[in-house]
Amino acid sequence: MNRIGKLYFRYGTMGSAKTAMLLTTAYNFEERGMRYVCMKPFIDTREQLNVIRSRIGIERECTWIYQDTDLYATARELFEQAGSVIEWFLIDEAQFLTAEQVDQLSRVVDDFGCNIVCYGLRTDFQSHLFEGSRRLFEIADTIDEIKSTCTCGHKTIINARIDSNGDFVEEGAQVEIGGDDKYIAVCRKCWRNKRIEQSERDILPFL
Ligand SMILES: [Zn+2]
Repeated sequence: MNRIGKLYFRYGTMGSAKTAMLLTTAYNFEERGMRYVCMKPFIDTREQLNVIRSRIGIERECTWIYQDTDLYATARELFEQAGSVIEWFLIDEAQFLTAEQVDQLSRVVDDFGCNIVCYGLRTDFQSHLFEGSRRLFEIADTIDEIKSTCTCGHKTIINARIDSNGDFVEEGAQVEIGGDDKYIAVCRKCWRNKRIEQSERDILPFL
């Protein structure tokens, strides 16, 4: 196999149009008659349909990736069914992949010359790397940041989790998926200032 593929990681904060970019890429592939596969980790158990959907209204069918899915085996099955190697894989929410699954993807790239484009978040609501993102930073061929801007004008870095009052949540499980209303992307400075403001407000009534 002479074809040389790449493992890509395109990361950004929430609301940085990662999914819209994935879907636009899928659309372009279709226009040019290129074959591709869309995949997404299965996290939100309320999700019934296997689709990747963007806020701008477009969607595409996808294959679910479960915690124990072997992506190397899955790729081989897909190639068998298709009768040949499928050159492009588009993966949404790649932060939720396990490190092992990212390694499996890298083997698909190296053994079959596929191009695998992973879109995902860099860090969780406490500013720490997700497992899938960490492994992608470690071994991806090409890493691109999809930038977006905080209300103050700086680049967004943090995906802050917010409660019903709009306050930033500091504790909790790493994965707690709801609607878009539960998270807001902010810059590091605003994230810090807001938390200081919250803690002062909580202390003041007792002084
Ligand atoms: Zn800011």
